[in-house]
Amino acid sequence: MKLFLWGIILSGFMLTHASWAGQIDLVYPRLEGDGTPYVFMDTVRTTFFFGNVSPVDARLEAAGRSVDVTTDGAFLAYIPLDTAPGTKSLRFTLIVERRLIDTLDFPYVFACEAEAAESDTTAVETDNFPINLKVTAEHAVTRTAPGGTYEFFPPLGTNLPAGDSKGKFFVIDLGGGETTYIENRFVEVDSTGCLDYSILSDVTVSSHLQQSTMTVPLSRPCLFRTRLSSDLRELTVSFYHSVSDINKITFEPWEGGVNLAQWQPSGEGRVDVTIRCTTPIEQGYRVRYAPDYSAAVITIRHQSAGRQGSLRDKTIVVDPGHGGAAKGSVGPLRTLEKDVVLTLGKLLARELEKRGANVFLTREDDEYVGIYERVDFAREHHADFLISLHSNALPDGENPFLRHGSGTYYYHPGSRRAAETVHRRLLHATKLRDDGIFYDDLALVRPSDFPSVLVEVAYTMYPDEEKLLRDVRFLKRVAKGLARGIQDYFRMR
Ligand SMILES: [Zn+2]
Repeated sequence: MKLFLWGIILSGFMLTHASWAGQIDLVYPRLEGDGTPYVFMDTVRTTFFFGNVSPVDARLEAAGRSVDVTTDGAFLAYIPLDTAPGTKSLRFTLIVERRLIDTLDFPYVFACEAEAAESDTTAVETDNFPINLKVTAEHAVTRTAPGGTYEFFPPLGTNLPAGDSKGKFFVIDLGGGETTYIENRFVEVDSTGCLDYSILSDVTVSSHLQQSTMTVPLSRPCLFRTRLSSDLRELTVSFYHSVSDINKITFEPWEGGVNLAQWQPSGEGRVDVTIRCTTPIEQGYRVRYAPDYSAAVITIRHQSAGRQGSLRDKTIVVDPGHGGAAKGSVGPLRTLEKDVVLTLGKLLARELEKRGANVFLTREDDEYVGIYERVDFAREHHADFLISLHSNALPDGENPFLRHGSGTYYYHPGSRRAAETVHRRLLHATKLRDDGIFYDDLALVRPSDFPSVLVEVAYTMYPDEEKLLRDVRFLKRVAKGLARGIQDYFRMR
């Protein structure tokens, strides 16, 4: 009943809207109200514009060239930009029966012409290197270079010797000529500690039905990196700024657990500890410090027994992306990603529950939830699987007519198979172009604690796909497909 009334109100509104003189609603790139020109990166030569027009049967032109409009009034155009110096303007015109009913001018410049960005005032002001740093922020990251990709994820309390600084970054020497960079907001200068190596001592390994735990005592928390072998059975943890005083490794060989553990010094100030399991490490692992920082604790989750392919007793965290002020991507008809994925998330939760799973949603309303809060939520609920739901967009300059459809993202090698089973069923459900399976360092797929995948169901900006994303029957089909994909993952070993 409530829905029925809304229907009348909405269609009433749309009729009034349609009786206006006509309107070009350019959704992206977003036009500033005060006429400030839009700034394109210097490398962009041709780019996309999308939005909608009313009435829907009007003829739209951009710079005198005809633009296709769908029966819903949506348009998406890929238009060459004018590279002449100064502020340029792209003119859109809307025509009904040879009568001009609306015009819209889109002013733009290239980044090199826009005002230079404000200078960075947060540069590190220390010249007494080397110094000792301590990680004081949750979710700290180091980068391969200032502005480069993420490299290490040091937990709170990690000690880092810095040999130099570059802008707002400290330069961390990794030995063997390797360096990594950490932003000053993640660390504090630790004047109490000296620049000592961490000393690793005797290791113990214990295995149980559900998980194995390796404890590596160390004299101070140091930087570490993990690597999973290609057969997924061997996990190597490299400890930097450390020396080994490991004399023995005590471990209990056990069916389904760990069957080998060893250590070796690897170059300057690095010790590698390797643990080999009897089954692939697909259900996740985690390295953290003991609460008193006296040891690194490595936990490996084993495949739990139980009926193959059954989701009974499996905990699945469903993450509808974005929310609240974080709208995510937008479509020509102003469809918002945050709304689409919330609807889809609830449908998926229902499908998974029907199959016996315990399901937790990271958000159930239109509210903002931080990306790390979502990851922590999944950890707190001991997720056996995390799926993050999104609908895609492209950066300026890419051709949306060449790139659209359904895509799946993963990060850890242990999640590769999960990405494959989910992607196969996703494609089957959407019947859209295969955008591919991507290896990508995204916050929601970065945790190693459990298999995690991120799906981009379709492109919100692509009119045909936006139309589907607005159709709840399509979303139901996708929810069913994703649930089947997750079920396949737990079935095929
Ligand atoms: Zn998204």
